[in-house]
Amino acid sequence: MSVISTVQGIVLKKIEYGDTSHIITLYTKQHGKLSAIIKGSRSSKSKMGNKVDVMNLVEIVLYRKQSREVQVISQVELLNPFSKIKEDLDKLKYATGMLELLLFLIPEDDVNERLFVGTVKALEKIDESEVPPINVFAKYLIFIIKETGYEIQLQYCTECNADLRKSDSFAFKPDQGILCSQCKNLYDFAEQIGKEHFDLLNCLNTKNYCVKFKRKTVEQIIGLLEKYLIYHIPEFKGIKSFHYY
Ligand SMILES: [Zn+2]
Repeated sequence: MSVISTVQGIVLKKIEYGDTSHIITLYTKQHGKLSAIIKGSRSSKSKMGNKVDVMNLVEIVLYRKQSREVQVISQVELLNPFSKIKEDLDKLKYATGMLELLLFLIPEDDVNERLFVGTVKALEKIDESEVPPINVFAKYLIFIIKETGYEIQLQYCTECNADLRKSDSFAFKPDQGILCSQCKNLYDFAEQIGKEHFDLLNCLNTKNYCVKFKRKTVEQIIGLLEKYLIYHIPEFKGIKSFHYY
Protein backbone atom coordinates (compact mmCIF):
# COMPACT_ATOMS: atom_id res chain seq x y z
CA MET A 1 0.00 0.00 0.00
CA SER A 2 1.16 3.53 -0.77
CA VAL A 3 1.28 6.25 1.85
CA ILE A 4 0.33 9.71 0.57
CA SER A 5 2.19 12.61 2.08
CA THR A 6 3.10 16.23 1.39
CA VAL A 7 6.84 16.77 1.59
CA GLN A 8 9.33 19.58 1.03
CA GLY A 9 12.45 18.90 -0.97
CA ILE A 10 15.35 20.33 -2.95
CA VAL A 11 15.75 18.96 -6.48
CA LEU A 12 19.27 17.50 -6.77
CA LYS A 13 18.95 15.82 -10.16
CA LYS A 14 16.42 15.66 -13.01
CA ILE A 15 16.50 13.19 -15.88
CA GLU A 16 14.10 12.48 -18.75
CA TYR A 17 12.35 9.15 -18.50
CA GLY A 18 10.53 7.40 -21.34
CA ASP A 19 8.73 9.72 -23.78
CA THR A 20 6.70 11.75 -21.34
CA SER A 21 8.10 11.67 -17.82
CA HIS A 22 10.93 12.79 -15.57
CA ILE A 23 12.68 11.06 -12.70
CA ILE A 24 13.99 13.44 -10.08
CA THR A 25 16.23 12.96 -7.07
CA LEU A 26 15.10 15.04 -4.12
CA TYR A 27 16.62 15.79 -0.75
CA THR A 28 13.55 15.99 1.46
CA LYS A 29 12.92 17.20 4.96
CA GLN A 30 10.68 14.29 5.89
CA HIS A 31 12.27 11.26 4.17
CA GLY A 32 15.86 12.24 3.36
CA LYS A 33 17.05 11.56 -0.18
CA LEU A 34 14.69 9.81 -2.58
CA SER A 35 14.00 9.32 -6.29
CA ALA A 36 10.54 9.88 -7.73
CA ILE A 37 8.82 9.82 -11.10
CA ILE A 38 6.52 12.57 -12.38
CA LYS A 39 4.37 11.00 -15.06
CA GLY A 40 3.51 13.16 -18.07
CA SER A 41 5.69 16.05 -16.92
CA ARG A 42 7.28 16.48 -20.37
CA SER A 43 3.99 17.00 -22.20
CA SER A 44 3.30 20.62 -23.21
CA LYS A 45 0.12 20.62 -21.13
CA SER A 46 1.91 19.67 -17.91
CA LYS A 47 2.51 22.45 -15.43
CA MET A 48 4.88 20.32 -13.38
CA GLY A 49 7.92 19.87 -15.67
CA ASN A 50 9.79 23.13 -15.12
CA LYS A 51 8.81 23.40 -11.47
CA VAL A 52 11.17 20.52 -10.78
CA ASP A 53 14.32 22.05 -12.26
CA VAL A 54 17.54 21.30 -10.39
CA MET A 55 18.04 23.40 -7.22
CA ASN A 56 14.36 24.36 -6.85
CA LEU A 57 12.78 24.08 -3.43
CA VAL A 58 9.42 22.38 -3.94
CA GLU A 59 6.49 20.97 -2.05
CA ILE A 60 5.20 17.76 -3.55
CA VAL A 61 2.46 15.23 -2.98
CA LEU A 62 4.20 11.89 -2.79
CA TYR A 63 2.82 8.37 -3.15
CA ARG A 64 5.38 6.44 -1.20
CA LYS A 65 5.92 2.70 -0.89
CA GLN A 66 8.87 1.47 1.19
CA SER A 67 9.40 -1.51 -1.12
CA ARG A 68 9.64 0.65 -4.23
CA GLU A 69 12.89 2.21 -5.42
CA VAL A 70 11.28 5.07 -7.32
CA GLN A 71 8.36 6.87 -5.68
CA VAL A 72 5.51 8.66 -7.49
CA ILE A 73 4.78 12.40 -7.43
CA SER A 74 1.30 13.70 -8.23
CA GLN A 75 1.49 17.44 -7.51
CA VAL A 76 4.25 20.01 -7.36
CA GLU A 77 4.27 23.47 -5.83
CA LEU A 78 7.30 25.68 -6.39
CA LEU A 79 8.41 27.28 -3.10
CA ASN A 80 11.70 28.90 -4.21
CA PRO A 81 13.47 28.71 -7.59
CA PHE A 82 16.57 30.54 -6.22
CA SER A 83 16.53 32.67 -9.40
CA LYS A 84 19.52 34.86 -8.55
CA ILE A 85 21.75 31.79 -8.14
CA LYS A 86 20.90 30.71 -11.68
CA GLU A 87 21.86 34.11 -13.11
CA ASP A 88 25.32 34.34 -11.54
CA LEU A 89 28.12 31.90 -12.37
CA ASP A 90 29.96 32.25 -9.05
CA LYS A 91 26.75 31.67 -7.07
CA LEU A 92 25.86 28.75 -9.36
CA LYS A 93 29.26 27.12 -8.99
CA TYR A 94 29.10 26.93 -5.20
CA ALA A 95 25.37 26.17 -4.93
CA THR A 96 25.85 23.29 -7.41
CA GLY A 97 28.76 22.08 -5.27
CA MET A 98 26.39 21.91 -2.29
CA LEU A 99 23.88 19.77 -4.23
CA GLU A 100 26.72 17.50 -5.30
CA LEU A 101 27.74 16.95 -1.67
CA LEU A 102 24.16 15.92 -0.85
CA LEU A 103 24.09 13.55 -3.84
CA PHE A 104 27.35 11.82 -2.92
CA LEU A 105 27.62 11.99 0.88
CA ILE A 106 24.10 11.29 2.08
CA PRO A 107 22.75 7.73 1.95
CA GLU A 108 19.18 7.19 0.64
CA ASP A 109 16.45 7.52 3.29
CA ASP A 110 18.80 9.05 5.85
CA VAL A 111 16.47 11.58 7.50
CA ASN A 112 18.18 14.68 8.97
CA GLU A 113 15.92 17.68 9.42
CA ARG A 114 18.78 19.89 10.65
CA LEU A 115 20.77 19.19 7.49
CA PHE A 116 17.72 19.96 5.34
CA VAL A 117 17.03 23.26 7.11
CA GLY A 118 20.75 24.20 7.00
CA THR A 119 20.87 23.44 3.26
CA VAL A 120 17.86 25.67 2.51
CA LYS A 121 19.38 28.43 4.65
CA ALA A 122 22.71 28.22 2.80
CA LEU A 123 20.97 28.34 -0.61
CA GLU A 124 18.95 31.37 0.53
CA LYS A 125 22.15 33.04 1.71
CA ILE A 126 23.86 32.50 -1.66
CA ASP A 127 20.69 33.61 -3.50
CA GLU A 128 19.86 36.74 -1.55
CA SER A 129 22.98 38.09 0.10
CA GLU A 130 26.22 39.82 -0.85
CA VAL A 131 28.30 37.34 1.18
CA PRO A 132 30.79 35.70 -1.24
CA PRO A 133 29.30 32.32 -2.27
CA ILE A 134 32.65 30.64 -1.63
CA ASN A 135 32.36 31.58 2.08
CA VAL A 136 28.84 30.19 2.31
CA PHE A 137 30.08 27.00 0.65
CA ALA A 138 33.09 26.62 2.98
CA LYS A 139 30.77 27.02 5.97
CA TYR A 140 28.35 24.48 4.50
CA LEU A 141 31.22 22.04 3.95
CA ILE A 142 32.16 22.18 7.66
CA PHE A 143 28.47 21.77 8.53
CA ILE A 144 27.85 18.73 6.29
CA ILE A 145 31.10 17.08 7.47
CA LYS A 146 29.81 17.41 11.02
CA GLU A 147 26.31 16.18 10.12
CA THR A 148 27.70 13.09 8.36
CA GLY A 149 29.70 12.17 11.47
CA TYR A 150 33.23 13.10 10.38
CA GLU A 151 33.64 16.24 12.48
CA ILE A 152 37.19 17.63 12.54
CA GLN A 153 38.75 18.16 15.96
CA LEU A 154 39.71 21.85 16.27
CA GLN A 155 40.73 21.97 19.93
CA TYR A 156 43.47 19.40 20.32
CA CYS A 157 46.32 18.11 18.16
CA THR A 158 45.20 14.82 16.60
CA GLU A 159 48.63 13.31 17.36
CA CYS A 160 49.68 14.49 20.86
CA ASN A 161 46.48 16.12 22.20
CA ALA A 162 48.22 19.46 22.81
CA ASP A 163 45.96 22.51 22.91
CA LEU A 164 45.96 23.83 19.33
CA ARG A 165 45.33 27.41 20.45
CA LYS A 166 48.89 27.46 21.80
CA SER A 167 50.35 26.67 18.37
CA ASP A 168 51.27 29.26 15.77
CA SER A 169 51.77 26.86 12.86
CA PHE A 170 50.04 23.61 11.93
CA ALA A 171 49.70 20.79 9.42
CA PHE A 172 46.57 19.15 8.04
CA LYS A 173 46.64 15.36 7.75
CA PRO A 174 43.82 14.18 5.44
CA ASP A 175 43.05 11.03 7.46
CA GLN A 176 43.14 12.58 10.94
CA GLY A 177 42.88 16.36 10.93
CA ILE A 178 45.07 19.01 12.50
CA LEU A 179 48.59 18.62 13.89
CA CYS A 180 50.22 21.12 16.28
CA SER A 181 53.52 22.93 15.66
CA GLN A 182 55.45 20.15 17.47
CA CYS A 183 53.93 17.35 15.36
CA LYS A 184 53.47 19.11 12.03
CA ASN A 185 56.62 17.60 10.46
CA LEU A 186 55.98 13.97 11.48
CA TYR A 187 54.27 13.00 8.20
CA ASP A 188 55.40 13.83 4.67
CA PHE A 189 51.88 13.84 3.27
CA ALA A 190 50.49 16.25 5.87
CA GLU A 191 50.12 19.74 4.39
CA GLN A 192 51.61 22.67 6.27
CA ILE A 193 49.02 25.33 7.10
CA GLY A 194 49.26 28.69 8.81
CA LYS A 195 47.51 30.41 11.68
CA GLU A 196 45.07 32.08 9.22
CA HIS A 197 43.87 28.63 8.04
CA PHE A 198 43.38 27.45 11.60
CA ASP A 199 41.55 30.67 12.51
CA LEU A 200 39.33 30.35 9.42
CA LEU A 201 38.37 26.75 10.33
CA ASN A 202 37.40 27.94 13.81
CA CYS A 203 35.49 30.90 12.41
CA LEU A 204 33.52 28.73 9.94
CA ASN A 205 32.46 26.63 12.91
CA THR A 206 30.60 29.61 14.39
CA LYS A 207 27.61 31.56 13.04
CA ASN A 208 30.00 33.94 11.24
CA TYR A 209 30.54 33.93 7.44
CA CYS A 210 34.19 34.94 7.94
CA VAL A 211 34.31 37.50 5.11
CA LYS A 212 37.46 39.14 6.49
CA PHE A 213 39.56 36.15 5.38
CA LYS A 214 41.31 36.18 1.98
CA ARG A 215 39.56 34.28 -0.82
CA LYS A 216 42.80 32.32 -1.39
CA THR A 217 42.72 31.05 2.23
CA VAL A 218 39.08 30.01 1.85
CA GLU A 219 39.95 28.17 -1.39
CA GLN A 220 42.83 26.34 0.33
CA ILE A 221 40.59 25.27 3.24
CA ILE A 222 37.98 23.93 0.79
CA GLY A 223 40.77 21.96 -0.94
CA LEU A 224 41.90 20.42 2.38
CA LEU A 225 38.37 19.53 3.44
CA GLU A 226 37.75 17.93 0.05
CA LYS A 227 40.84 15.71 0.57
CA TYR A 228 39.61 14.85 4.06
CA LEU A 229 36.23 13.72 2.64
CA ILE A 230 37.87 11.76 -0.19
CA TYR A 231 39.91 9.91 2.44
CA HIS A 232 36.92 9.09 4.66
CA ILE A 233 34.28 8.41 1.99
CA PRO A 234 35.79 6.19 -0.73
CA GLU A 235 32.85 6.71 -3.16
CA PHE A 236 33.44 10.47 -3.08
CA LYS A 237 35.98 11.59 -5.67
CA GLY A 238 35.90 15.34 -5.07
CA ILE A 239 33.51 18.06 -6.19
CA LYS A 240 33.17 17.63 -9.94
CA SER A 241 31.12 20.74 -10.68
CA PHE A 242 34.07 22.91 -9.64
CA HIS A 243 35.82 21.87 -12.84
CA TYR A 244 32.93 23.04 -15.06
CA TYR A 245 32.75 26.65 -13.93
ZN1 LIG B 1 50.91 17.59 18.50
